[in-house]
Amino acid sequence: MSEATVASPREAKIAVKGLRKSFGHNEVLKGIDVDIAEGEVVCVIGPSGSGKSTLLRCLNKLEEISGGHVIVDGFDVTDPKVDINEVRRHVGMVFQHFNLFPHMTVAENIMLAPVELKKATKAEAREQALKLLDRVGLREKADARPASLSGGQKQRVAIARALAMNPGIMLFDEATSALDPEMVGEVLQVIRDLAKEGMTMVLVTHEMGFAKEIGDRVIFMDAGVVCESGPPAELFGNPQQDRTKEFLSKVL
Ligand code: ADP
Ligand code: MG
Repeated sequence: MSEATVASPREAKIAVKGLRKSFGHNEVLKGIDVDIAEGEVVCVIGPSGSGKSTLLRCLNKLEEISGGHVIVDGFDVTDPKVDINEVRRHVGMVFQHFNLFPHMTVAENIMLAPVELKKATKAEAREQALKLLDRVGLREKADARPASLSGGQKQRVAIARALAMNPGIMLFDEATSALDPEMVGEVLQVIRDLAKEGMTMVLVTHEMGFAKEIGDRVIFMDAGVVCESGPPAELFGNPQQDRTKEFLSKVL
């Protein structure tokens, strides 16, 4: 076979190389290397303060990066010339606290970015918002205010809003941590559906059972480094590092 016909290794959808992040003198990411393939679902676990949220926030430059490189969908996020708004169109993010705009209806929340960024007319954006609400099972709430929704419903709207720009990547930072237990399942179901559709996702989660079920890979972070990573069955079933064992003994 000639060299030209050899398929190149699949390019990573997200490539993190030697990522460092400090807040003042506090270095909270100490050289993170992670490659995530298209369609891969990666769950990030680890103790509070280990840098999970900071890692996620560096992926779409919600934080200034102190060192290393982050390449997302072919964009070098660390390049000062990169149009960060363009990058963020490729990356949807869902937070623990839903951050919906209270003075807007559910549909208006979802329509906001496509209309503001002139990706759609109002009519097109509304049509798309209704489709997205169908997808998360909330079409009947289109004209409701966020305040009238349960926590689980708010989070499903937040997911629909994040999907409105058609991102190829979704980031979830403890998307179920603020929910009453009976509402966790409905949000996990939406995330599960996205995984089935082939969405590339990075999820910081405390739901170990869910990480086991949905993750192609689990990353255990501790004190600003990736301590251990692997397929869920290996990481949960046969952890190699003492710190991983200790953490899992507390949460499983
Ligand atoms: P995790 O999500 O794993 O709980 P974080 O990424 O939120 O951890 O935080 C990691 C460390 O970075 C913590 O020590 C936290 O106090 C610190 N940190 C996070 N954000 C900021 C910030 N904006 N300013 C200063 N320190 C921060
Ligand atoms: Mg966090």
